[in-house]
Amino acid sequence: MSEQTTLPADNQRKVFIKTYGCQMNVYDSERMGEALAADGYQPTEVIEDADLILLNTCHIREKAAEKVYSALGRYRDLKAERLKQGRETMIGVAGCVAQAEGEEILRRAPDVDVVIGPQTYHRLPEALRKAKTGERVVDTEYAVEDKFDYLPKKERGVRPKNVSAFLTVQEGCDKFCTFCVVPYTRGSEISRSTKQIVDEARRLAENGVREITLLGQNVNAWHGESADGADWGLGDLVFHLAEIDGIERLRYTTSHPRDMDERLMQAHRDLPKLMPYLHLPVQAGSDKILKAMNRRHTAEEYLALIERIRAARPDIAMSGDFIVGFPGETEEDFQATLALVEKVRYAQAFSFKYSPRPGTPGAELGDQVPEAEKADRLQRLQAMLTRHQLEFAQSRVGLEMDILLEKPGRNSGQLIGRSPWLQSVVIDGGEAEIGDLVRVRITDAATNSLAGVRIA
Ligand code: SAM
Ligand code: SF4
Repeated sequence: MSEQTTLPADNQRKVFIKTYGCQMNVYDSERMGEALAADGYQPTEVIEDADLILLNTCHIREKAAEKVYSALGRYRDLKAERLKQGRETMIGVAGCVAQAEGEEILRRAPDVDVVIGPQTYHRLPEALRKAKTGERVVDTEYAVEDKFDYLPKKERGVRPKNVSAFLTVQEGCDKFCTFCVVPYTRGSEISRSTKQIVDEARRLAENGVREITLLGQNVNAWHGESADGADWGLGDLVFHLAEIDGIERLRYTTSHPRDMDERLMQAHRDLPKLMPYLHLPVQAGSDKILKAMNRRHTAEEYLALIERIRAARPDIAMSGDFIVGFPGETEEDFQATLALVEKVRYAQAFSFKYSPRPGTPGAELGDQVPEAEKADRLQRLQAMLTRHQLEFAQSRVGLEMDILLEKPGRNSGQLIGRSPWLQSVVIDGGEAEIGDLVRVRITDAATNSLAGVRIA
């Protein structure tokens, strides 16, 4: 570090955190923010004020990783600009790009001071202290210790930013779908202990959180032990968490079809607190492609599973992920995806062009689909998915439902909440406050949001 520059006092340092990717990264960014706060860093939304810029990155598709490098290029100029004003800026890269690329980031981005993986971010303050001495730090080893034991715990009475919070229960994946980097960047599957999860859920409830979304790359593979030593799966955990006072709504994501078990379906049948919404990616509708992807189920098995889930909870809304243009996908295979979508009628979905990821088996396959073909299929798939999403939204008009109010709306007096099916609902707030569960009748629907009036 330059000797002419001044560093702010330890308790006046500011951190700007930029998060890419999935909800698990959102959760991790919050935990890193807390670890840094305990070390004297205040959060800032103004990047020019930041003494530390931290990127929490995603490696799932090539575009996501390239975004990180182009952001790092911009931050390089910013760092130089601040240096002219006598202010140091440290730059850290966390998350899955950090894990996958490690030293390569230091080579491609000479202004990066710290690279830290998803399993070691509890050591971030220590890495930053080292980096202050001028050493560039890469810490991407899978830690022996459990990071959650080393992260600060939220105190009672500290208001969380949101009435709805994420809670990571499971990380990593052993499924090795042939397109996916997760098993390499997040490591093999681990479940957090029941006690850690229940303690965290209680702390969230004590701090005003009313809805918890349990997170995991493969959340329904979670397994643990009850207090009396019984083997628990996610269904048992959900039954247990539903007993916590103050928690009114539970959700979980992302699930793998292979891990949807009877107990979890019972939870959907019996627990009003478990919201009627299930993100259950299928990726493709052709058995040939599903096999090549190593998804370990057929389209028919997936459809039969949904039938059972719908029998348990008839109003459940399905959500999914799709990849078009996996190597070897023909027009006929793609038509099978459209046919599956037509049968399921997803309330919401994410769809992507296949992006070959270095080190995954899919990237080694011949018969890669041309970009133009992928783009065309994606457009056709998305047209169908959007149509179904709108139809689902319109089917809510006239229904009465509970809305959990989460934030102010764009216009004065408006509040925005979530329907049980995860849709945004705009209402005139009146006396209601953020955090209230209010009864609403839906009056209008668009693809991405609903409008309603309070009826109680
Ligand atoms: N574990 C989840 C599952 O089994 O479906 C998904 C995890 S992944 C973070 C989220 C989504 O990204 C996947 O469901 C898939 O649709 C998409 N995805 C993953 N790898 C991809 C790739 N190489 N190209 C395009 N999309 C990809
Ligand atoms: Fe990736 Fe999900 Fe497959 Fe695991 S189950 S390899 S996270 S797509």
